[in-house]
Amino acid sequence: MKTHQVSTDGGRERFLAQIARLWPAAKGSVAEVHKPCVRARCRACAAGRKHRAFILSYKEGGRRRCLYVPAERVAALRTAIAHGRKIEQLLSQGGAALVKQARQGR
Ligand SMILES: [Zn+2]
Repeated sequence: MKTHQVSTDGGRERFLAQIARLWPAAKGSVAEVHKPCVRARCRACAAGRKHRAFILSYKEGGRRRCLYVPAERVAALRTAIAHGRKIEQLLSQGGAALVKQARQGR
């Protein structure tokens, strides 16, 4: 009796369906940086262009950490971070919904 479940589970099924579509999900930020290299006579560095790199910064146990991201993974990673933000929005809405439900239950 699926329809009955949906109406009494406080939105659990709907929430799970929503976050299932938001996988893969991540939290953090991707920054583009331009760094000099170690080559002695690099034209890009001599011209001030340097070399493009991408860095993911994220928190682990309250500490900020950084990782280099291969350029071909940047788009997928940014999508995952956008998914993570949507999941956080859903969780925020969940808190408000719980309080409203509790009020109605009294
Ligand atoms: Zn260089």
